[in-house]
Amino acid sequence: MKNSNSMTLALASLMLTLPSVHANASELDAHEHGSANLDIAIDTSTIEMRFESPAVNIVGFEYATEDEQQLLLINKAKSNLSNFDLIYGLVGDVSCQTVKSSAKWVTEHEAGHDDHGEVAKAEHAEFIAEYRLECNQLNNLAAIDVKMFEFFPAIEDLDVQVVYSQGQIKYELDANNTLIKLDR
Ligand SMILES: [Zn+2]
Repeated sequence: MKNSNSMTLALASLMLTLPSVHANASELDAHEHGSANLDIAIDTSTIEMRFESPAVNIVGFEYATEDEQQLLLINKAKSNLSNFDLIYGLVGDVSCQTVKSSAKWVTEHEAGHDDHGEVAKAEHAEFIAEYRLECNQLNNLAAIDVKMFEFFPAIEDLDVQVVYSQGQIKYELDANNTLIKLDR
């Protein structure tokens, strides 16, 4: 779903004028089981992306493990997440080279969230993946197709924020709605 321009502008100005409020809000939003975030910045020749998801969406658990099968799952997930061409598709007449891609498991110790309400000090973990692409003809990029839902069906919704030459847009994607369209 795409917000109206006025909404986006209002949000952008709120973020500019109230950075601390925004920071608090995004920390609260950051770890919600079933949800994940994707931030994208596009300039004339570069695409930078950062994906962040509770680990439970990716491998089904968040606790530290020594179990071989679970370690294999984690490694497989890292491998899939860092394979840009596997889980994203660029739509349009562009040619890009992935110059950086990484995926890591990050453990957080925090007070329990709603979804772990009874646990006073729940352990949470996330996957964070980062990408950098160098591109030609980036003005021809019409859309980014997010194919990760095929690999990680526990991601129910993906909150996407894109900053590019035309401004800032937000999408909420899911398995049936995978396209980030870039108005030109
Ligand atoms: Zn969690």
